[in-house]
Amino acid sequence: MEDKKNRLQAIYNDFETAAAPYKTEAACGKGCAFCCTDAGSIHITTLEGLVIRDRIAALPRPRQVAVKKAFAADMKRREQKKPSACPFLMKNRACMIYDVRPFACRRIYSLKICSRDQHPVLSRQVMARGDEAIRALQQLDDTGYSGHLSYILHMLDTLAFLSPYLAGEYNPEVVMAFGKTHGIVINRVMAKAGERIRPSVLARH
Ligand code: SF4
Repeated sequence: MEDKKNRLQAIYNDFETAAAPYKTEAACGKGCAFCCTDAGSIHITTLEGLVIRDRIAALPRPRQVAVKKAFAADMKRREQKKPSACPFLMKNRACMIYDVRPFACRRIYSLKICSRDQHPVLSRQVMARGDEAIRALQQLDDTGYSGHLSYILHMLDTLAFLSPYLAGEYNPEVVMAFGKTHGIVINRVMAKAGERIRPSVLARH
């Protein structure tokens, strides 16, 4: 799993290097957290969830408790179809896990200031690179799943999901049943087991 975490970081780094020339024109600025409050679902892979989980485990205990409460509140609000800010967004509008934030957050920037009526505007080239990176992330986490951040982190906090996932077992039926029992909507099954890609392919992203 450590090797996969390193490869995950390599995919992030490669994308950020490729996107950097286009981001020089970005309208995004410190304190603008529109993406974190109004952007809908924040999709992550289970592998990204593991990395974030490690970060949560390193937080002081009261903060860990507060974050878990925020996940529960986020899931509830989403199930009620109410808007919900990311549980990692702090009062000062900074990200609590900025250096390990998922790819969904890394790929978004905007050439225009966002608003409810103005969705992020980004270059076609960065969109295409982002899509490539997502495919690489899915293939890397080939026995994993994806979904909104709070749901994936909730699943990883449950041994019935975590143990088989860490053991490399891939059983979508069991996971879907698990999701149903826990009131979790698992949005998308990742690339099927066996569709592994070689590290040399990953290195191109
Ligand atoms: S993880 Fe961080 S950057 Fe991503 S939506 Fe949440 S607060 Fe924003």
